[in-house]
Amino acid sequence: MTNRQLFLSHVAQTSPAPIGLEIVKAEGIKMWDVDGKEYIDLISGFSVCNIGHSNPEVIKAVKDQVDRYMHLIVYGEFIETPQVAYAKLLTDYLPSSLNSVYFTNSGAEATEGAMKLAKRVTGRSKIIACNKAYHGSTQGALSVMGDEYWRNAFRPLLPDIYHLDYNSQELIDCIDNTTACVIVETVQAESGVNRPGEKWLKTLQTTCTEQGALLVFDEIQAGFGRTGSLWAFEHYGVVPDILLLGKALGGGMPLGAFIADISLMDSLTNNPVLGHITTFGGHPVSCAAGMAALKVLVEKNWIEEVKTKEELFLNCLKHDRIHSVRSAGLWLAVEFESFEVCKPIIDRCIEKGVVSDWFLFAPNCMRIAPPLIITEAEIKEICSVIMSSIEEVYQGK
Ligand code: PLP
Repeated sequence: MTNRQLFLSHVAQTSPAPIGLEIVKAEGIKMWDVDGKEYIDLISGFSVCNIGHSNPEVIKAVKDQVDRYMHLIVYGEFIETPQVAYAKLLTDYLPSSLNSVYFTNSGAEATEGAMKLAKRVTGRSKIIACNKAYHGSTQGALSVMGDEYWRNAFRPLLPDIYHLDYNSQELIDCIDNTTACVIVETVQAESGVNRPGEKWLKTLQTTCTEQGALLVFDEIQAGFGRTGSLWAFEHYGVVPDILLLGKALGGGMPLGAFIADISLMDSLTNNPVLGHITTFGGHPVSCAAGMAALKVLVEKNWIEEVKTKEELFLNCLKHDRIHSVRSAGLWLAVEFESFEVCKPIIDRCIEKGVVSDWFLFAPNCMRIAPPLIITEAEIKEICSVIMSSIEEVYQGK
């Protein structure tokens, strides 16, 4: 049997059309398959590899930590240096009210933890989320996912959840003194890169404060420089009560986190104690990798270059078949007429060695979220691949 056949028969499948590349090596923005064919990773493994693949500092940190120890005990019992050091470093780069980090295994678990924390702190159960939002695939996170098609087959889900439109007054009007929290993505990812209005985000914050509800920002995709600042909320001058991180947080290793003020977080230590439990959350190797990646990210000036590179993409992505391009830093959604047009263009790009994908709630949009280390020459090269792919699909070649 080929590896492809083994993949299809023994690795549980949920996609009817997996990309199915067999990569043997990845470095920087490039990946190579079993036949030696080179690919550019235009989506950073879904916004994970913000500093590129196989960064030597990250590899060294992983190897050093593996030599010291891997798993020791469940979360929060021993003082594990990589966890402590990474929590300290993260909080150094965050506003002072985001000073206590609960490390999880994944983004979805960070969402779960944040919802539990909000319920615990407020003693309320109502949660407000956005249509077209994605916060993870476990049952709590699925309950706040903003699309009935994706939720419905798994009902019953959590009760007392309200979905309203991102950027809408209706969402703000829904917040009242029974609301535990409002959970929003600082920049909506899977709706195809939608930015919030600054006024809306500020009103959201003041209304939450007035009503005693917690404001949760999901920056699992938007964080770590993707939008041109370390955290996306910095663009809007709004600090959440709870911040969700994941993806690039682990520098290529699995890691998530929900972060809040210690006075809120402490509610998970009593009545009941152990308010959130995880065996592997904050794994020492993941924390060592994540910390090395964050250090590299802030030492280099890749974040400062994001704006110029975004503009270059916007200038190069001009074609009369492109309906619009939405962007938030090095994160773009290229909109086509339909999924039926977008998908073959993506497939054509992959054939030509540029790996992209579509968005969960915007299947007519092509995803661009390259490692921030991408050069201007590479951006031009990629855009010409996209242009020729559009031409070929429309000419039926
Ligand atoms: N939140 C957002 C905005 C995401 O994009 C994702 C994953 O794509 C998640 C949460 C869930 O993260 P994970 O897949 O690590 O559970």
